Amino acid sequence: MLLELLAEKGRLLADGATGTNYFDRGLTSGDAPELWNVQSAERVAQLHQEFIEAGADIILTNSFGANARRLRLHDAHDRVIELNRRAAEIAREVADRAGRRVVVAGSIGPTGDLFAPLGELTFAQAVEAFAEQAEGLKAGGADVFWIETMSAPDEIRAAAEGVAAAGLPYVFTASFDTAGRTMMGLAPAELPNLAAALTPAPAAIGGNCGVGAPDLLLAILEITTADPNAVVIAKGNCGIPQVTGDHVHYTGTPELMADYTRLALDAGARIVGGCCGTTPRHLAAMRAAMESHVPRARPDVDEIVRRLGPILLKQAAGRPDGDRPRRGRRRA
Ligand SMILES: [Zn+2]
Repeated sequence: MLLELLAEKGRLLADGATGTNYFDRGLTSGDAPELWNVQSAERVAQLHQEFIEAGADIILTNSFGANARRLRLHDAHDRVIELNRRAAEIAREVADRAGRRVVVAGSIGPTGDLFAPLGELTFAQAVEAFAEQAEGLKAGGADVFWIETMSAPDEIRAAAEGVAAAGLPYVFTASFDTAGRTMMGLAPAELPNLAAALTPAPAAIGGNCGVGAPDLLLAILEITTADPNAVVIAKGNCGIPQVTGDHVHYTGTPELMADYTRLALDAGARIVGGCCGTTPRHLAAMRAAMESHVPRARPDVDEIVRRLGPILLKQAAGRPDGDRPRRGRRRA
């Protein structure tokens, strides 16, 4: 479904943020957004609907943290199948009403635990957690598994293995938030080789979240340089993050995200979407940019900075916690 639609349309628009938009709609910090699938399904459906109206070809289910290890924090670890199935059902129902083909991508985030020997998570446990999540997403009607915000190569391998039994295609994207690499040291240029060693192979690879949109595009350039034939996903944050106290604000305007979309396409991405801070209003501008896009030369760093703003690699590296593995964060 994903690759068919991509072949037909040439490039696809994925949706925007889940967390940021839920916070704007009443989610409280510390709550598991996945519980909304049973407690507040109308709000989950509403955001899907708004992204589809804005032009999304792909919507991500509200299941990012719905694995048993992470749900244990909310005492909901015995509800993995239910919460994932509902997440996919809600998205499926909205997608099927769209009047055009919309892909339902089953979002799968990291377990939040570190792999042994740094932490206690074994490879087999991770595979099991991802397999359970995939089973629920498939039961609810997902078209593809969308493994995202990944950091550890082992966790990507475990997720790929875990979803394989369900027999649907999958993609994976990593979050390059630490000096141009993932927190666990994976560089964008290493993604194609990592993907080539997986069976079955992913339908697409790429980057999401991380720091700002300019940094994300640098990562996309590195991936497409390493493998010009890869089907690449760019799901960058909405501009540049600005931290005030505990609050992170993203500076991106719809115009800036439209420009980000043009640059992502020229950098070789075939699937473009937004991560933290990206609202349906931003996504509508991204759709218009995609529709009217006239291909230009591959951008370089200077052009990305000139059009989108500063690269934050160094700042990210210099953060107090920049070099220390943290417990995985939520996509917000
Ligand atoms: Zn994000």
